[in-house]
Amino acid sequence: MTFTKGKCVNCDAPISTGILCSECTPSPSPTNIPVRIVRLSEMVEGEVGFTEEYAVFEAEGKLYVIGSAQVSPKRDGYKTTKVRVRKGIVEVDRMTIDLDDLWIGWPEMNEETDYLAAKLV
Ligand SMILES: [Zn+2]
Repeated sequence: MTFTKGKCVNCDAPISTGILCSECTPSPSPTNIPVRIVRLSEMVEGEVGFTEEYAVFEAEGKLYVIGSAQVSPKRDGYKTTKVRVRKGIVEVDRMTIDLDDLWIGWPEMNEETDYLAAKLV
């Protein structure tokens, strides 16, 4: 397959950007529909999601998560730490977080944010 700038790599139709013309660009299938991204503080009881490791930290001997951190329903990019809300506490799956890299101390946040009580499960 050769690539000539300005031409679709599939059918040679003239294009202005990218490598495929609109005809050859696959349309998103239902499984590619963007998933609902919420913040940790918006998760409801029983909801499961994945967040970034940095959202979890330990301060004064207790575990917390940053309420404004984004949560994806699926493992996605850096969102690899599994969390679940149960009885108002954010449960963090210990198999999905590197505890050696756990942030210790209150994080410096510019915006106002909630810190939610968390625990390892
Ligand atoms: Zn094409």
